[in-house]
Amino acid sequence: MAMVGKGLTLERAKELQADKYGYSVHELKGGLLVRFEEEDVVELTTGAVDIHMHAYPDNWQRPSIVNIGERACELGVKAMVWKCHKTSTAGESWILQHYLDMWASQRGLEATKIYGGITFNKSVGGVNPDTLREQIVFPHFKTVWMPTHDSDHEMREVWGQEGGITILDEKKELKPEAIKIVDIIAKNEAKTGNKVLISACHLWPNEIIALIKEASSKKVDVLVDHVTQELTKLTIDQMKEMVDLGAYLGLYALSCVPNFYIPMTDPFNVKRIVEEIDSKHIVIASDCGQPLSVLPPDGLKAFIRTLLALGISKQDIKIMVKDNPAKLLGLPSDL
Ligand SMILES: [Zn+2]
Repeated sequence: MAMVGKGLTLERAKELQADKYGYSVHELKGGLLVRFEEEDVVELTTGAVDIHMHAYPDNWQRPSIVNIGERACELGVKAMVWKCHKTSTAGESWILQHYLDMWASQRGLEATKIYGGITFNKSVGGVNPDTLREQIVFPHFKTVWMPTHDSDHEMREVWGQEGGITILDEKKELKPEAIKIVDIIAKNEAKTGNKVLISACHLWPNEIIALIKEASSKKVDVLVDHVTQELTKLTIDQMKEMVDLGAYLGLYALSCVPNFYIPMTDPFNVKRIVEEIDSKHIVIASDCGQPLSVLPPDGLKAFIRTLLALGISKQDIKIMVKDNPAKLLGLPSDL
């Protein structure tokens, strides 16, 4: 079968590009999409948790975390986890929280909680237990992101280069530093009660599976990021294997709905994944925060609207955008 990328058939790509496609989407009755209520979009956005988003300050142009934070308060987003590919965002999140608490209370709004963490790219020494040991005790530290742009997977597949970071040794077993990372997170939770999530980011599928096995054995959660994005796209069988081992799957607006950065993605895949995997193993997030994307809270809201239009139930969306991310971050239920 002729394919356009890992998951899109040439036939489906032609359908998405057809003259009548946009018009058929418009026809609610007997068309591709179902009718939804805007008040349901608002209800699901209020109290949502965006577990994966980006912002400025960064080494690249992005929308300001201050503007994003204010917008999140306006939309009633409960919490956001701010990812930077280069450095820790935990301390910055703590400072921003003080500002947002003040800004929101002046307007009679609830302040969105902002959390951060660290991404194990080369700028922090790769998958580095020493870095984590010092960083994990910072306030608002909630996530460890595995290598992204410096990963062996991305460097080989996207850029055709060697020298990327891998967490497996020659025998395809987890390297000691990856095992230590899981240990540090587990011990830190036992000591402080702060739950920290591992996000798999751009690792190879076999690296992710080894990591999930190790993490699950120590009761540390793993979120498998953007499973519909070309580099990290998984088959339904791979998704099932990871979920059976205890992982959660991330479906993010940026890689589920066509946009400036990812123009070729079929949003109808999302419905299939939710049906085949079950919402209790899935997390919805925006992954927005690029200069040409809408602000992350608006991206999340638009994604919720898309999911309703695809016919995914309110209950499933609530589980994916509120319950599961709150559980993965160990957020208090009264937050
Ligand atoms: Zn991202």
